[in-house]
Amino acid sequence: MLWMKQSQLLIPTMKETPSDAESVSHQLLLRAGYIRQNAAGIYSYLPLGFIVLQKIEEIIREEMNATGAQELLMPAIQPAELWHETGRWNVYGPELMRLKDRHGRDFALGATHEELITSLVRDELNSYKKLPMTLYQIQTKYRDERRPRFGLLRGREFIMKDAYSFHDKSESLDERYQMMYDAYSRVFERCGLNFRAVIADSGAMGGKDTHEFHALASIGEDTIAYSDESDYAANTEMAEVLPPDADFTADAEVQAAFFRANDDTIAVYYLKGDEVNDVKVKNVLGVEILEALTDEEIQELQFDPLNPSDHIKVMADQWVEVISNGSLFVGEGQKRYNDINFGQDLHIKHFHDLRFIKEGDPSPDGRGWIKFARGIEIGQVFKLGTRYSEAMNAVFLDEQGKSKPLIMGCYGIGVSRTLSAVAEQYHDEKGLTWPNALAPYKIHIIPVNVKNDEQLTLAEQLHLQLGDKWDVLLDDRKERAGVKFADADLIGCPVRITVGKRAGEGYIEVKIRKTGDMLECHIDELNSVIE
Ligand code: ATP
Ligand code: MG
Ligand code: MG
Ligand code: MG
Repeated sequence: MLWMKQSQLLIPTMKETPSDAESVSHQLLLRAGYIRQNAAGIYSYLPLGFIVLQKIEEIIREEMNATGAQELLMPAIQPAELWHETGRWNVYGPELMRLKDRHGRDFALGATHEELITSLVRDELNSYKKLPMTLYQIQTKYRDERRPRFGLLRGREFIMKDAYSFHDKSESLDERYQMMYDAYSRVFERCGLNFRAVIADSGAMGGKDTHEFHALASIGEDTIAYSDESDYAANTEMAEVLPPDADFTADAEVQAAFFRANDDTIAVYYLKGDEVNDVKVKNVLGVEILEALTDEEIQELQFDPLNPSDHIKVMADQWVEVISNGSLFVGEGQKRYNDINFGQDLHIKHFHDLRFIKEGDPSPDGRGWIKFARGIEIGQVFKLGTRYSEAMNAVFLDEQGKSKPLIMGCYGIGVSRTLSAVAEQYHDEKGLTWPNALAPYKIHIIPVNVKNDEQLTLAEQLHLQLGDKWDVLLDDRKERAGVKFADADLIGCPVRITVGKRAGEGYIEVKIRKTGDMLECHIDELNSVIE
């Protein structure tokens, strides 16, 4: 077990709240000396932060290994050729960090590893006999985020666990997907998180089925819709749902609806008789709605709602999803056409074909009512299918000796983001309040006065003794007791042991950080008190 003397550690606590840190987790991780920023979205994990990070990684490893997944480590630097094979060199955009070597050859810093792992296995996994197989790594990822913020929550360099599975049959992928989903649930439970698994939008990854795992927190950038009475939960990016305060009134007489996106505004026009009516859906995720457009505004949009080539028309049996980035998805039954351009010629007959749900509506599975909450995306599981194996010619021979593309799944956990998400959920006005499983040290021992021999001796003795069983930090600094208590609250170890005036008789004070409960006890009773 870890046991350490605080006087010898790098735990640079700060009294003041750093002014540029917007989220509580960011503020506290800086103040309590867990992390330091080196550039926008780029951080060092100081010793305390690194211990917590390793504890999260260990939980992930245990749960991944228990599913039979194998750990490997791939490079962060990836040759551009691989990204050309899938077309993502061009599609991924400025988020992909690119560099050239001395010979002028292009490389990417890994934002994700589908290309790299597919190139690895296409030479190795060429018989059905080797399938299914799941490989994972815990590694540094690079994404030049447009808006790095909230400390580790949205970094430009961050740590991810990414896993990839390979299959001969889609049933095999289905099974593995469920296994990973269950393993993710266990990981986040063990981290002590209040989280929800939600159906999500597969976006740029391609593929169909996908779930995200969200830690509930007011700072979360996503809005999720869920019901307490059932398992239904969705990211409102799916826009089967409209956010809390939206009021979107369906009208049975409506003949047609047209859509137009303009930056963060989506205008919805509909025909009632011969009249053109409209509503303006603003900033789709933070909706202000039902604001009539003036003729000038329609002019400004340079959009003629009656001109069929200038709007989307959606058929009566089709539905529309409005996505947060301002794009629209159109679908039919279970099918969903991605990336519909606004110029495309589809048309809707009835307004109520829009699948919008409001807070308090019945949930889609009919059990319970819709609620909304903010979430931090801490993980995501995808069924990729053959999108990457086909593009990169990763094939295997099936039982009949026929060559087929590998069927793939991929599964990510934001390891460093999880650390911050836990801090978002575990804190109070005095500092962090780690759950046992992740606390850098379970016990923080504080001799009130280190110049007092009795106190220091007993504190050191406890440090050694308890260190057999738990991770223990001893605050042996020559600081005032008040400073040491304030730092202990800030750092947030679950149990604080204060060695003070009654040290000579073997009496100490135990404080439970999370509840604030305190009691005085004899050192012989300690084991049962701490358990
Ligand atoms: P987001 O929607 O927050 O941008 P993402 O959907 O782009 O995340 P994925 O490609 O699904 O992210 O990556 C897997 C996991 O990596 C995410 O679920 C998240 O926990 C984590 N992650 C993604 N981007 C970042 C980042 N910039 N900083 C820290 N963690 C991140
Ligand atoms: Mg992203
Ligand atoms: Mg996402
Ligand atoms: Mg994601």
